[in-house]
Amino acid sequence: MKILDVENLNLGFMCENGFNQALFDVSFSVERGEMLALVGESGCGKTMSAMSVLQLLPKNARITSGIITFDGKDLLKSPKKDLEGIRGAKIALIPQDPMTSLNPLFTVGEQLLEVIRIHQHLKGKDAWQKAAEAFDAVQIPCAEERLKAYPHEFSGGMKQRAIIAMALACNAEVLIADEPTTALDVTIQAQIMNLLEKIKKERNTAILLITHDLALVREHADKVAVMYAGRIVESAPAKEFFENPSHPYSIALLNSIPANREKSLETITGQPPSIQQIIEGCKFHPRCKKCMDICKEKIPPEFNVGKDHISACFLNDSLNGKKN
Ligand code: SF4
Repeated sequence: MKILDVENLNLGFMCENGFNQALFDVSFSVERGEMLALVGESGCGKTMSAMSVLQLLPKNARITSGIITFDGKDLLKSPKKDLEGIRGAKIALIPQDPMTSLNPLFTVGEQLLEVIRIHQHLKGKDAWQKAAEAFDAVQIPCAEERLKAYPHEFSGGMKQRAIIAMALACNAEVLIADEPTTALDVTIQAQIMNLLEKIKKERNTAILLITHDLALVREHADKVAVMYAGRIVESAPAKEFFENPSHPYSIALLNSIPANREKSLETITGQPPSIQQIIEGCKFHPRCKKCMDICKEKIPPEFNVGKDHISACFLNDSLNGKKN
């Protein structure tokens, strides 16, 4: 059952040169107990898509159309008060840098207790008990002691666990994990990803993982959506995606990860376009080795290329599986 559903989301920014569109008809959904990975290079729109769900957007950002539904409720039409109740409690953000969410002036315990007081309406011993349980759940040893420590006394991995504990203490139903392991070393990365997977399975939590790391996606995600220049260019169940990638951008990304290395890693030439850059047709065409004439003129529609597998590339035209 879908807990979070984003449909045809269009978003742009008011800039000095006018309105620049950054997201184009972005659609994805995540079910309870499922991890969806939103993948792509920096600036492709994955973080902006996730932040639209939380409506934590820069001041000059405008959502021009689309529907974002959480547990059947249209978030774009919800009153601000309802949204505040959902954000941080029902839908929680695990950021890349946990220090953006932790206040260095208060102990981690004080901050966790504050979250529990606001969202769970618990006080005193009950709140303390809930905080200790949340620390236990994220495998922070000596929970009682650790709650009295300040953020600077925690390692990077421990800070990230503390943020996850805050989400668990609120019984969050959706976790948005935005590059949650980028700032951590490899061993700790694996621990945090294993923890997220454990939470997903044991609590039936839905996880939206924002990442550029396909190796991580291969190991942990259930579904994949690849973004390029503000559009989802391919989406599929993870197993299908890694066995039968379809879009040339996805294939280029896969060829650039070490697990696929045979002789040397391939790199994707060029850079993704900025939102100000106007590119006719398929926005990937200046970098695509398979570019055809039509690609420079028309935007490729989505084609069905397998079960629940969609690819927006004209190379699929011959398959006659056009979706739209
Ligand atoms: Fe390449 Fe054309 Fe497919 Fe775009 S539509 S990815 S340019 S082949």
